[in-house]
Amino acid sequence: MHKHIRPQPGIMDIALYQGGSSRIAGRDDVVKLSSNENPFGAGDLARQAYMRAGHDLHRYPATDHSGLRSALGAHFGLDAARIICGAGSDEIISFLCQAYAGPGDEVLYSQHGFLMYRISALAAGATPIAAPECDRTTDVDALLAQCSPRTRLVFVANPNNPTGTMIPLSEIERLAAGLPKQALLVLDGAYAEYAPDYDGGAALVDARDNVVMTRTFSKLFGLGGLRVGWGYGPQHVIDVLARVRGPFNLSNVQMDVAEAALGDAAHIARSISENARMRDWLADKLNALGVATDASLANFVLARFRDADQAAACNAALLAEGLIVRQVASYGLPEALRITIGDEAACRRVAHVIGAFIDGQGGA
Ligand SMILES: *Cc1c(COP(=O)(O)O)cnc(C)c1O
Repeated sequence: MHKHIRPQPGIMDIALYQGGSSRIAGRDDVVKLSSNENPFGAGDLARQAYMRAGHDLHRYPATDHSGLRSALGAHFGLDAARIICGAGSDEIISFLCQAYAGPGDEVLYSQHGFLMYRISALAAGATPIAAPECDRTTDVDALLAQCSPRTRLVFVANPNNPTGTMIPLSEIERLAAGLPKQALLVLDGAYAEYAPDYDGGAALVDARDNVVMTRTFSKLFGLGGLRVGWGYGPQHVIDVLARVRGPFNLSNVQMDVAEAALGDAAHIARSISENARMRDWLADKLNALGVATDASLANFVLARFRDADQAAACNAALLAEGLIVRQVASYGLPEALRITIGDEAACRRVAHVIGAFIDGQGGA
């Protein structure tokens, strides 16, 4: 750190976020299964909208995001006036921390929660607090027990990343109802579309004044590289977030392509059904090998090995065959690998390599 020119307290406590890697030197058959991306990519309608958007690159985008917000409102049955859009849901998470938490305040999340909660809390000068989980699942009682007069934000991803586990809406309701008066519950629904019959908590947002939902186009919609996410909340929260949001935080390209993706029912349906089919197939294969997984409601599985060494050795075996998965020691899970559900060919390669690896080890 510089002797005189120093950042705000907390900033240097942030460990740089490591994105999932995508390349292995000297190989052209690499499959990236480390960032929970849609194996089918963006849908045709999104790609076409992207080409069309090239004609208007000289125009400033709409500051009010009204086209995309209306499309989201219509698609998900929400009040468009209470939607805010950002450069990925990461930006919405950052707006929330910036607006509601500062020095002396606490931002609460669960033990194996998404790394951006801690990063955004520290960036805002607030104190991140992790509550224990129970069998890699969000524990509402543990979260409530960690609440204090300083708690301002509580983040819960449901389904969670990197565990894939989910808690029922009744538990989320109990959490929202039990929070101290000054605390806002943020339901991160990055994987909500993969969970059958789950609205991401939208109805709870409508029913209460202390719940916000965040969503993204990065996972199911196959637009991680485009950077579009959004939040849905009570009017008082949206009014606050609108003040910290830059007026041109999303480009025309981002908004047009995201809107087109919402209308691609065929791509959405295929992505959901293929993910469920191959996720259950891969989990069965792993379990048959003695590699445990939790029931995942998302587009990845968390494979648990004997210990950290075995997980690292399996990761090396996968890399040697061109398969990049995610080591999750930074999430407090050194004995596990998070494997994004690829297409059928990719899942078969993964199962084959892990099978051979476990055989060579004489068991899981
Ligand atoms: C991927 C992910 C996000 C979304 O990130 P974007 O910024 O929208 O790409 C948010 N929360 C969780 C838990 C995630 O896994």
